[in-house]
Amino acid sequence: MSNEKLTENLKEMVIGLGGSNIGIGTKQTLKGGPESTDLSYVLKDAESSITFAVPFNQDLIEPYLSKKDFSLNENKIRTTTFTGGIALEVAGFLNQMGYEAIPIAPNFIYRKDTPNGIRDRKPLISHKYLAARSGVGFFGYSGSILTSNYGSAIVLASVVTDAQLTPTDPIPESENYCDDCRLCKLSCIPNYISDEKIKVNIGGYDFEYQKPNSHWRCILVCGGATGLHSSKKYSTWSPGRFDLPEDDDKKFESLRDKSMITYVKRPKKDAVFYHPGVPEYKMQYTCSTCQFICHPDKSVRKHRYKLFKDNGVIVENEIGNRMSVSPDEAENIIAKMPEDRKRLYVN
Ligand code: SF4
Ligand code: SF4
Repeated sequence: MSNEKLTENLKEMVIGLGGSNIGIGTKQTLKGGPESTDLSYVLKDAESSITFAVPFNQDLIEPYLSKKDFSLNENKIRTTTFTGGIALEVAGFLNQMGYEAIPIAPNFIYRKDTPNGIRDRKPLISHKYLAARSGVGFFGYSGSILTSNYGSAIVLASVVTDAQLTPTDPIPESENYCDDCRLCKLSCIPNYISDEKIKVNIGGYDFEYQKPNSHWRCILVCGGATGLHSSKKYSTWSPGRFDLPEDDDKKFESLRDKSMITYVKRPKKDAVFYHPGVPEYKMQYTCSTCQFICHPDKSVRKHRYKLFKDNGVIVENEIGNRMSVSPDEAENIIAKMPEDRKRLYVN
């Protein structure tokens, strides 16, 4: 089979299995990129990468952002697992056709040869860089990959192979809908997205997005340890109410010790991801707000941001049922808790 024909077959396969957007990178098109675009880290004789997106259930986004229905949590876990499954299918197919191919899961697989091993959370390869360079989507201000159909409410995965595939180009800058609205940044309770830009060149193309602050900011809030905005008027789906340091990344890291101890002790009634770096391995995403707010239509983005801000704060009962209540009601509920329960949620 010719390289072109094999490439077309793989594109059809990914879309047929449930992908929404696909791109092909090669050693040449990824040349000069950051370390995490080096395919040979994964497969010594790698020639190409296949990177693709799978959308989350769009109907669940607004009920989630308005803190009425947490079902998007389970959909996120299932969609992420399904996306890894497509990578496994594609790699298996290539293998049966006589090629070497390694599936790369969407998340939670880290390099072990960095100074702190998996605690550094450095991915084997960056799905995002591969996706931007191969035209799966484009970098938004948030640092997420935006797609023209589903915004950034997608999961990415890749397959690295020694098959010589036909590369695809980045999406032209004129088609990038990111207009700097910054609703992603405004919606980020721990201020993870900084004001500084990161610029990278991959295979002769420039890409730009905002530099993140300490990763612990996102890990603690998106990972569910805490999630109350400093105004105390709104929150993520996390019932944690720890004070968030404004500008100091180091203080944020020390919050990790306190908030993770209580996080482990809280009831986790709803579905969880299994993460090697989390105590007792169970992690429940409670944010992803920046990812879910961003939509190609600006009026949808604004509406979603308002839903997130105007729908109160989350509290949970003894068995882990969560509900959104007004900020005053939340204060009352917390004040009436026995001290040992209260310590699970507040400073
Ligand atoms: S929310 Fe606005 S600024 Fe942020 S990535 Fe989306 S379009 Fe860009
Ligand atoms: S997932 Fe939440 S905490 Fe993480 S960057 Fe996005 S908005 Fe901020």
